[in-house]
Amino acid sequence: SDVLQLIGVSKTYAKDGPAPVSVLHDLDLSVGQGEVVALVAPSGAGKSTLLHIAGLLDTPDSGKVMLHGRDMSGLGDRARTEARRRELGFVYQFHHLLPEFSAAENIILPQLANGSGERVARERAEDLLHKVGLAHRGDHRPAEMSGGEQQRVAFCRALANKPALLLADEPTGNLDPETSDRVFEVLMGLVRETGLSAMIATHNHELAGRMDRVIRLNETVA
Ligand code: ADP
Ligand code: ADP
Repeated sequence: SDVLQLIGVSKTYAKDGPAPVSVLHDLDLSVGQGEVVALVAPSGAGKSTLLHIAGLLDTPDSGKVMLHGRDMSGLGDRARTEARRRELGFVYQFHHLLPEFSAAENIILPQLANGSGERVARERAEDLLHKVGLAHRGDHRPAEMSGGEQQRVAFCRALANKPALLLADEPTGNLDPETSDRVFEVLMGLVRETGLSAMIATHNHELAGRMDRVIRLNETVA
């Protein structure tokens, strides 16, 4: 069964203006349970638009977005926010950790916001940090960590609330090639261990090749 399905999704920016930008046209894609899909797209092809739509941050002009077979298109803002918080984890090129909080706190806070108790949230943060090799870093603030470590904490935060689907936009794109490689392996290990499904956008064809399937978006547009 599919965790994510996009059916006939289209998106045009500035639709009613003099210069509309048609980005996605009648796009179908799916991500199966436990599947890790690479999203490869040249710059400007609509990768961010697609991730925003799949992440329920934006709505398509037409078509459906299904999570676990449930149509999200008709939901109001509040229900979409709720679904996003419960079902989805996000990782970006830059870590976006809260600078005034420790690594552990950055992983605990979203759990508290989602209704978890403090002890459970702390144990989960410690477990996740351990899984990414940062058990000794829980009390450190982001600025006290290397780029690779910051991204690993960001992965933990994305998984804090046990999402069904991870959406990642160039999650190692900000790191040097060697660190990127190692950190990508950590991410894949974490995803595999938790049975998570993922759609990971990357420009790196070698990393894309290590995922289960590659989806190419408008390669001809570039
Ligand atoms: P990518 O992430 O693949 O670089 P985007 O999804 O950010 O691509 O953007 C795809 C196209 O849509 C680009 O040509 C971009 O300039 C255009 N675009 C993105 N957002 C807007 C917007 N809010 N208004 C108008 N055009 C936009
Ligand atoms: P990585 O290979 O993960 O990118 P680095 O070579 O950048 O790691 O850093 C090596 C070690 O130094 C790491 O344990 C990192 O946490 C630590 N470190 C890096 N930057 C800082 C900093 N600004 N303050 C404290 N420790 C740091």
